[in-house]
Amino acid sequence: MPSLQSYHTFGLDASSQQITPFSDIESFFDARSRYPHNYLLGGGSNTIFLEDFEGQILVNEITGIEHNETESTHELRVGAGENWHQLVASCVDNGWHGMENLALIPGSVGACPIQNIGAYGVEVETFITSVEGVYLDSNTRFTLSHAECLFGYRDSIFKHELAGKVLITHVNFVLPKQNQLITTYGELAALSDPTPLSIFNEVIRIRRAKLPDPAELGNAGSFFKNPVIDNAHYSRLTDEFDDVPGYAVGSEHTKVPAAWLIDRLGFKGRAINGVRCHPTQPLVLTNTGGATGKDLVTLAREIMSSVKARFTIMLEPEVRLVGRKGLIEL
Ligand SMILES: Cc1cc2nc3c(=O)[nH]c(=O)nc-3n(C[C@H](O)[C@H](O)[C@H](O)COP(=O)(O)OP(=O)(O)OC[C@H]3O[C@@H](n4cnc5c(N)ncnc54)[C@H](O)[C@@H]3O)c2cc1C
Repeated sequence: MPSLQSYHTFGLDASSQQITPFSDIESFFDARSRYPHNYLLGGGSNTIFLEDFEGQILVNEITGIEHNETESTHELRVGAGENWHQLVASCVDNGWHGMENLALIPGSVGACPIQNIGAYGVEVETFITSVEGVYLDSNTRFTLSHAECLFGYRDSIFKHELAGKVLITHVNFVLPKQNQLITTYGELAALSDPTPLSIFNEVIRIRRAKLPDPAELGNAGSFFKNPVIDNAHYSRLTDEFDDVPGYAVGSEHTKVPAAWLIDRLGFKGRAINGVRCHPTQPLVLTNTGGATGKDLVTLAREIMSSVKARFTIMLEPEVRLVGRKGLIEL
């Protein structure tokens, strides 16, 4: 049974019956037909294999970057198996600007539209014009426009109607030549005379300082999404906790940092066997060595039930948890 440990950044010791890389649609469908249970994987940075998977892991290696320049834009058509950070780095190198705030996010290009990756005031949907792929049930190709992708905060149609039903093969981006630099968020605001390159370098510096590097300490980034609650609920929270942060989402909702809620309940540094709530970033759970899927589920559920009891907020995992037969819910 081949090990999955190096195929997911959390690094739990799990295995599968078969691991098959593919670089085109035909070999994907050919391999897929040989096993009743399959799981499609990019870089494994948003997936945690909790236990041995009774089936095949199909690893996307569809590559290629096509570039077209118009008077006002750079257009890119990128293979889903390309590495996200390498794409951002080569855009910065080539003078194609806009995505520099999204530097150092692990994973593949094909997964970026699924949860509409975002960081430092920028979401990838700003640059996505369409997503190409294949429907798994009919093997027919599709191209979904930006509007059809139904992007939201860490959300898209690929997490709902199309969850587990498509292979994304290519993502199309447009980077306007007259792009506004975004430096409003956190430490980026301190940059004097910012350029795309200085933003790129600063984002890398900040992320390295704040987040554990999965190559050194297994983790899957933010374990939970930041909850969005209605304004009345937020107002009740501020009556009780005058320092609870909140960011307006439209006119009726407020986003509350999950890290604040978890920190407030004293989980920072709390560990169950080899799984620990990171001491400097409580939204990140880490594998300090020898952890099991059970340890992770126990700690995650403890955090969720404590947050629910204290703040009446139901946290939702941002990561995908995979059990014996496929995705499972906490
Ligand atoms: C240290 C760290 C920091 C992070 N920081 C951020 C951050 O700042 N912002 C952010 O938004 N995210 C962040 N993440 C989360 C993660 O990087 C993103 O979710 C990323 O897009 C996942 O890509 P992946 O290829 O590794 O996905 P995987 O884990 O391989 O796959 C995720 C899901 O997408 C599906 N999938 C993958 N590829 C395809 C495809 N081609 N077609 C159809 N379905 C597919 C898989 O089946 C799975 O369900 C972080 C993660 C880590 C470990």
